[in-house]
Amino acid sequence: MKCPVCSVESSGVECFSCGLIFEKWDKRHEKEKLEAQAALAALEKGPTLPASVDPWRGRFIAGAFLAVWLIGLTVAARHYMRTRRRPDDQSARAGDTMPVRDLSTGEVRRVKVQSARSR
Ligand SMILES: [Zn+2]
Repeated sequence: MKCPVCSVESSGVECFSCGLIFEKWDKRHEKEKLEAQAALAALEKGPTLPASVDPWRGRFIAGAFLAVWLIGLTVAARHYMRTRRRPDDQSARAGDTMPVRDLSTGEVRRVKVQSARSR
């Protein structure tokens, strides 16, 4: 067998001249050849496109944001409705007094609540 490194003809498993073990070299060379072939095949196939993104993922994220926003809006609306009180608010009992700002003069007066439903 002719040594692939130093080209000296040898018999047996090892090169007489440089000590190369033919079987080892063959194995490594075969592996390199396969890798080169794979790389070449990949080049011939053209650039590989990135794996397509699941279109439902974006929709799911948008839906989750929308849900959180709606829950926040509901909580804010409920809080607003609960804290907003008018003299005729049903939660005020007749006989209670409530501060009411007179819009023409700007002064705050305490007004006696007549009845829950009267206006
Ligand atoms: Zn050799």
